[in-house]
Amino acid sequence: MLNEYNPHLEYKGGELYLEGLSLKALAEQFGTPLYLYSASYIRERLRAYKKAFPEALICYAVKANFNPHIIALAKEEGAGADIVSGGELYASLKAGIEPSKIVYAGVGKTLRELEYAISSDILMFNVESFMELDVLDELAGKLGRKVRIAIRVNPDVDPKTHPYISTGMKKSKFGVDIKTAKKEYEYAGRLKNLQVVGIHCHIGSQILDVSPYIEAAQKVVELYYELVRSGFEIEYIDMGGGLGIKYSPDQSNPEPADLAEAILPAIKDTKAKLILEPGRSVVGNGGVLLTQVQFLKDKGHKHFVIVDAGMNDLVRPAMYSAYHHIVPVEKKERPYVKTDVVGPVCETGDFLALDRELPLVERGEYLAVLSAGAYGFAMSSHYNLRPKACEVLVEKGSYRVIRERESYEYIIG
Ligand SMILES: *Cc1c(COP(=O)(O)O)cnc(C)c1O
Repeated sequence: MLNEYNPHLEYKGGELYLEGLSLKALAEQFGTPLYLYSASYIRERLRAYKKAFPEALICYAVKANFNPHIIALAKEEGAGADIVSGGELYASLKAGIEPSKIVYAGVGKTLRELEYAISSDILMFNVESFMELDVLDELAGKLGRKVRIAIRVNPDVDPKTHPYISTGMKKSKFGVDIKTAKKEYEYAGRLKNLQVVGIHCHIGSQILDVSPYIEAAQKVVELYYELVRSGFEIEYIDMGGGLGIKYSPDQSNPEPADLAEAILPAIKDTKAKLILEPGRSVVGNGGVLLTQVQFLKDKGHKHFVIVDAGMNDLVRPAMYSAYHHIVPVEKKERPYVKTDVVGPVCETGDFLALDRELPLVERGEYLAVLSAGAYGFAMSSHYNLRPKACEVLVEKGSYRVIRERESYEYIIG
């Protein structure tokens, strides 16, 4: 069953292994909380995208996991980068990603960030408002550059995911209404330092049923033809990211090929090159968070397992009530009990699982929190002055520390 999350994750002789390495041994060597990433899995997912979309430019969404070694892995597999900040631009360039493979979205790009991206000559700015068009045009003029842009449109489809990560609906802050987008395009077309080259949309994240993509692609392609008829040369259709992953046992892990079936029929007759921006579906199930049981505690009918990973390490359960599957690193015969797995942080919202049927675990043993490769470490914080976790990349029986555990001195100076 675990191999449905990641084929490189398995129990052998009652112990959990990732790419042939014992998770218990790694936890003992590096301490916990510990993020482990499976390089083979991440490579395989990127290759699956390339195979399903042979003509497309795959821009890895850096925000899902910005560890420089993970970005470098994406680069090795030929991916570009989808960025949402100056920091992500810096990290992507440093990892060797060519500026001609970088696209930049975000509703609140600052002057400094825009200037940095213009000077870096990235492929395309995914612009989210009229005002951003003006600012970008003025800045490009000052820098003596012509800037390639797409306008991020909101196709108003319901991605059937958590409201905080639905981004393509009318009421969200992202993009412009697709019905009136032509106005923005005509406006942008008159700005002399901008070159309109694309259409961008990103409808949301953790989308397990690909049908909203069919509708989004059809609406985007309608706009494409409308723009082409008006004389625009649309070279790129950027359909964003958002493909979901298996978090809970009842969910599936959709393949890039499923996404291709949804998107390609609408796109294939256009002359535009397709861009995709997958994040979660590349790295999500490539990662595991290891944590150690500190204490057990029973209060009334409640059984608490208190672990050393908190909401500062993995905020998704607290923030989105997200489900992460949790398994003990050592598998033994034992009874199951309804358990709250909670962290050490001083917030009631600091939990990894609530009312979960789990084996009765003991103090000192290790638990593996699955599907932690995306929006895990990337969303971690220092809350309660807790140093951020160590990150280790494993591949075919070998391992590499890709980020040391932080020290108090590092944080406080
Ligand atoms: C977050 C984001 C992505 C990646 O989303 P995933 O769900 O991780 O695939 C892609 N494009 C944009 C514009 C984003 O904001």
